[in-house]
Amino acid sequence: MPHQFKRRTSGNRMADTAKTTEKKGANTRLAHAGYEPRGFHGFVNPPVVHASTVLYPDARTMEARDQKYTYGLRGTPTTEALASAIDELEGSAGTIIVPSGLAAITVPFLGVLSAGDHVLVVDSVYSPTRNFCDTMLKRMGVETTYYDPRIGSSIAELIRDNTKLVHTEAPGSNTFEMQDIPAIVDAAHARGVLVSMDNTWATPLYFRALDFGVDLSIDAATKYPSGASDVLLGTVSANEAAWADLRQSQLTLGVCAGPDDCYLVMRGLRSMGVRLERHRLSALDLAERLEKAEGVARVLHPGLASHPDHAIFKRDFSGSSGIFSIVLDAPDPETHRAKAHAFLDALEIFGLGYSWGGFESLAVHASLDDRTVAKPPEEGPVMRLQIGLEDPDDLMRDLDRALEATASV
Ligand SMILES: *Cc1c(COP(=O)(O)O)cnc(C)c1O
Repeated sequence: MPHQFKRRTSGNRMADTAKTTEKKGANTRLAHAGYEPRGFHGFVNPPVVHASTVLYPDARTMEARDQKYTYGLRGTPTTEALASAIDELEGSAGTIIVPSGLAAITVPFLGVLSAGDHVLVVDSVYSPTRNFCDTMLKRMGVETTYYDPRIGSSIAELIRDNTKLVHTEAPGSNTFEMQDIPAIVDAAHARGVLVSMDNTWATPLYFRALDFGVDLSIDAATKYPSGASDVLLGTVSANEAAWADLRQSQLTLGVCAGPDDCYLVMRGLRSMGVRLERHRLSALDLAERLEKAEGVARVLHPGLASHPDHAIFKRDFSGSSGIFSIVLDAPDPETHRAKAHAFLDALEIFGLGYSWGGFESLAVHASLDDRTVAKPPEEGPVMRLQIGLEDPDDLMRDLDRALEATASV
């Protein structure tokens, strides 16, 4: 059945009519989204409902499931508070909440793709997404083609009759290439193909994917919405065209999130705007300083004027978040690993750890061996930096120490 697509200027009816939220600032919306205290005795925060069974008052109601909540898997006041807060931010028709950011990718993929189908995935994708495509999807008879993140409208040439989904991620994981989302959406929709986007980096605060025509907006709530490195959670928000299938996919697979995790993310959302602002400013400040630092060949941050895709970034995004990469200056490939290790081992404030979006700064030597189209930078090893909420001058001193350590390798 062909999908009906909304244009990117159309916005979302549900979000517009529910409250006059569109006119308020991001922090005001974050402080009040998703929960009406009067709905639960006036308490400021939603109740944490631990539930499988929901009781029905009589046989008729039970048979017809004619009440708001019917079973824990299908939703509780806690999951509903979070989902409706995300709907307000995304402008979506509906949001599912799943136990991890990775599940927020696999669940919609499984809902859309069948044996014999084809999916287009950006080559700079979060690498566990690639692993899912190359193993489980392949085993199920779904073929994946990886495309250049800078492909733009030429994606049309890769769309086949059996292509069902174009998956985007901007900026790309570790290497931070931007994508021309409106051009890709136009090409995909012209052939009746859905577009998903892993929007974890920008969050709906800095890029409202659905307003740009994306059908399925994916966010690893583990990152900025949580903000504290203490919870795993994922959300997928759909427009009206994609919502029914997304919801069905979640219920068919039985993938739902626990109430405590939903509560923690709801709590994190309230301060996400001010945290992101700090992440944004500190990361830009450090990125600019690192561009001039000795031992750095290149800084990969789309918010910098020097970034090759800065024009697209400025056109579509309203802000940048706290994670970017630097390419160390190491002409001899034989030294890459040793330089990367020297850099990491000299850090005192930055932790060596995966994931990001929390309050603490982190560094990782990015592994880019799986790229097939978007070749990694050649000047040296790529160090991914998550800039936390610490004071930027302290962080810069730490980075200077690390760069100094690479010089002697
Ligand atoms: C971390 C991350 C995910 C997965 O989130 P988890 O909750 O760790 O499973 C998905 N996409 C991107 C871009 C990420 O950085």
